[in-house]
Amino acid sequence: MDDVTGPAAPRVRHLGLDLGGTNLKWSVLEHADGAWAMVARDRVPTRIDADRDAVPDAIVAQLGELAATAIAGCGPVASIGIGVPGLYDPATGATRFLPNVPGPWAGRPVAAPVSAATGVPAFLVNDARAFGLAELRLGSARGASSMIGLTLGTGVGGVIVVDDHVVIGHDGTAGEIGHQTIDPDGPWCGCGNRGCVEAYARADQVAAACGTATAEEAVNAAQAGDARALRGLADVGRYLGIGIANMINAISPDVIVLGGGVAAAGELLFAPIRAEIARRATMTSLDAVTIVPAELGIWAGAYGAAVHGAERLAATTTGR
Ligand SMILES: [Zn+2]
Repeated sequence: MDDVTGPAAPRVRHLGLDLGGTNLKWSVLEHADGAWAMVARDRVPTRIDADRDAVPDAIVAQLGELAATAIAGCGPVASIGIGVPGLYDPATGATRFLPNVPGPWAGRPVAAPVSAATGVPAFLVNDARAFGLAELRLGSARGASSMIGLTLGTGVGGVIVVDDHVVIGHDGTAGEIGHQTIDPDGPWCGCGNRGCVEAYARADQVAAACGTATAEEAVNAAQAGDARALRGLADVGRYLGIGIANMINAISPDVIVLGGGVAAAGELLFAPIRAEIARRATMTSLDAVTIVPAELGIWAGAYGAAVHGAERLAATTTGR
């Protein structure tokens, strides 16, 4: 048979690091012919020193060591992406504020020391944006042109994709869907505003609405048919649905991806979300908007960080 495929496209590897308050995860992805494949991944407990002031130095050193270990095991990588759970400065690669990791993180360089430890260009990204990018490129939103994503956990992370690109904004904060106001006089949110989606849909509020100690128990109770838990999830779904309907009116996405622990409730949460969307997003054809659970689980952050590093490197190279 004639070989009509021509020379094979180069296969390039990229490393993603995911900084969490409990674990640091890493993954090496390979990119060829527009497709992504996972080569290796692992996680280690985050070095949280008893001395709060020493935590950032310890974690940044650990990220550098982890990157070096991953590269030693998987061979050279072209870029490193680092997902961080909070605010950062895309121009300098320093963190600004990480609400759930101890330590003074304001102005703490992270990308530069990891790059210095490995000799590879490194780029930061918010962890929710990394989640969305991973689901867009190799997860449940593959092939979508526009999407919104929500991660339902301790907080409510968000991500917006328009025309195949994650919207980052001028300072990396675009996509905070969880902090849109849905009740001007609602409960206080950790961000300082009141009545945010997150103030109703973060894990502790899900548990409170369902009469359980944790969000995981809330999901289990609802799945077992507990009436209060079912009502609680329906209420949470209603608030999420209002926020999502606002986003549908704003960008008319192809796909809505829901991830994080509470999304495990499946239809018990998705059905009230859909019902609320149908009440409030009337300008577009909702038949063309699909709501899907995330596919990549706990690894989405590391995968998305790897993809982000690759895309930032490509943008730098081509001057975009
Ligand atoms: Zn908020």
